[in-house]
This record gives sequence, structure tokens and C-alpha cells, in this order.
Amino acid sequence: MEAEVWHYDGRNANRWGARLAGDATSFRLIGGSWESGPYAWADLAALDLPGADAVFGLKEAPGWRIGLPQDAIPDGLAALLPRKVRYGGFIDRIGLWKASAVLASIAALAVFVGVSAPGWIAPVVPQSFEDNLGDAMVGDFGGRFCATPQGSAALKALTTRIDPDANARSIEVANIPMVNAVALPGRRIVIFDGLLQQAKSPDEVAGVLGHELGHVEHRDTMAALLRQLGLSVILGGMNGTAGSNINALLSLSYGREAEHEADLTAIAKMRAANISPLPTADFFRRMEPALPGKGAKRGRNKGERSDLEDEAQALNWLASHPSSASRYALFADAHDTRRTYAPALQPSEWRALRTMCASDKKVKPVGAFGL
Ligand SMILES: [Zn+2]
Repeated sequence: MEAEVWHYDGRNANRWGARLAGDATSFRLIGGSWESGPYAWADLAALDLPGADAVFGLKEAPGWRIGLPQDAIPDGLAALLPRKVRYGGFIDRIGLWKASAVLASIAALAVFVGVSAPGWIAPVVPQSFEDNLGDAMVGDFGGRFCATPQGSAALKALTTRIDPDANARSIEVANIPMVNAVALPGRRIVIFDGLLQQAKSPDEVAGVLGHELGHVEHRDTMAALLRQLGLSVILGGMNGTAGSNINALLSLSYGREAEHEADLTAIAKMRAANISPLPTADFFRRMEPALPGKGAKRGRNKGERSDLEDEAQALNWLASHPSSASRYALFADAHDTRRTYAPALQPSEWRALRTMCASDKKVKPVGAFGL
């Protein structure tokens, strides 16, 4: 059985033309100079997308797609392809239908009262639903979490220190050069390697982690997802490519109030862990090109760009966590001069953490992500 399809491999933005050639259980994709598969028919999921094409995703392969015009599907192939599911591939992928009864009634009510996602929805979203959503998003990072024996031990040491109650279900470092960190739904936190490289000490990373833990504990991510993407997140999932899903996460804005609360959580956690908040204040200051006095402090001429400004991307941490002088002051003022703080990690641990991604031979390379 054969058909002409278009194909995204989930690793880059190329749209390939391919010939699908299959038998009763599996198929291969054959392009001009490449071939992939075999893929099991059973691993395909039909995506409920608008348009004239039937589009299918592949289990455990975020961003992987094949599509062909609905009216060009040969009969023999139609019998093998999965049928469209009502809520799209995402829910199919993670089994959210269990939660859908509760959520559908919430959604129906929201539609009834004419709002997209009122603030009270996030707190009533079952934690298990949110955990599943987070798990699927972790899948979107596919193979890009770094791990080495020493680096992982150092990460564990840092997370135990700043999050002794294990409020976060997981804290990972992703092999992505952006200066960023993000709280996923489901109490998961991802720190990007770019942030570790920009940080001058583990105390700064502890401060950022403390802040993200604040978002985790207040369930800010779920609220922001609902507010900005609407109930389709719940009912339709996030059907974009891995890169676009993560971009959506990174561009969420939690709001000034939530950011302030998260900062207060960070400060409380650092106090409890006996980590100085001063380096975090300095981190925010360095990340914020507009703050006065920074250029002078670093001996720069007016108008000259800092390394960070050069690297400043739309998606750096401060793009979704707007900084300000008052924020800097909040951390600086929390510093207790009478206290003897202990570094968040020993120098050898800090080295192991910062070099973890570079020395992990198995982690997926940076370039293949297409963010
Ligand atoms: Zn934040």
C-alpha cells in the first residue's frame, strides 16, 4: 500500500515530501534521499486539526507529523489509519480523557458564562491532570536533559538544599543555550544550560530555582496557560511542535503579583537554606540592561553593549520575568549582614553542574531543536 504524504520529522522545520509504503502492521517513509521507519500503524494518532489534510502524529515523537489530503486517502490505507479522536492527539497521547468529564463540565460552564478561562479554574484543575500535562511537556524536551554522575549529584545537592520538602516533582537541566528557566505544569522545573553558563555562582541558580519553586507552589503556570491559551489547553491540548509548545511556555506571563509572590518564596527558601540572596540580586541586575549604574559598575562606556545584551533574546528569563530596581532591592535588602551564609554548592559541585551538559555524551545536541 502506498500514498504520497508530507512529513515533518520533529527535529527541524523542513517539510518533506515522502512516499508512504506499508503493509498490514507498519510502514516506512521514503523521500528523495532518505528513508525512515518502520513505524507501527498502532503508534499513529490522528490529530484533529482544521484544514483539508488528515494529519497524524507519532507516539513518543513530539513534532513528528505526516499529512495528506483527506480526499486522497486510498481505501486500503484508510482502514489502517487511526480515526480522529475528539480532543486531538495530545490528550490521546497522555490519556487525559480520565479527567475530561470534570474539565468538560468546567469548560461548558465557562462557555456558558462567556469567559475563556476565569481565574478560579486553575485551582480546581485536578493535580493529576496538571501532572499529565507537565509529563507530556517534559516529553517535548525529548532527550535534551543533561545527566552525568557528578553533574546529576550536584543538581540533586542543589535541589535538596533549596527544596528540602521536594515540592517540585523534578528539576532538570536542558541542553539549550537560552538564559532561561521555566516551571512546567505538574510541579516540574527545567533550567536551561544557558542560565548555568551566565550564572556566576550556584547561589544565583538557587535564587532562580527558589523563584520557579514559588511558581510551582502557587500553580502559576497552569493559571497562565489557561489565561493566555484558553481552555483549548485542557480540551485540545497543545498540538504544536515540541519547539512551539516550549516557546508558548517561555512566553507566558504570570503577572506582576505572581512574580512578586515568587520572589518572596525564593527569599524565604534561601533564608531557610542559609543561602545569601545577594548574588541573586546581582544576577537580576546583570540580566537587566536598563537598570541604571550597571554599565558604570562594569567599567563600560556609555552605549557599549554588554555580553548579555548581545545575547539578549526575546526568550531570556527576564522576558517572561520582568525585572526592576525594586526586585533587585527586594533580594539585596533580604541580605542579613550578621549572618554567615554557606555557598549553595561546593566549588567542585558547581563545576560539575556547569559542565554537565557539555560532558554528557548522550544528550541530544543543541541545534536539532528548532526552537
Ligand atoms: Zn517568574
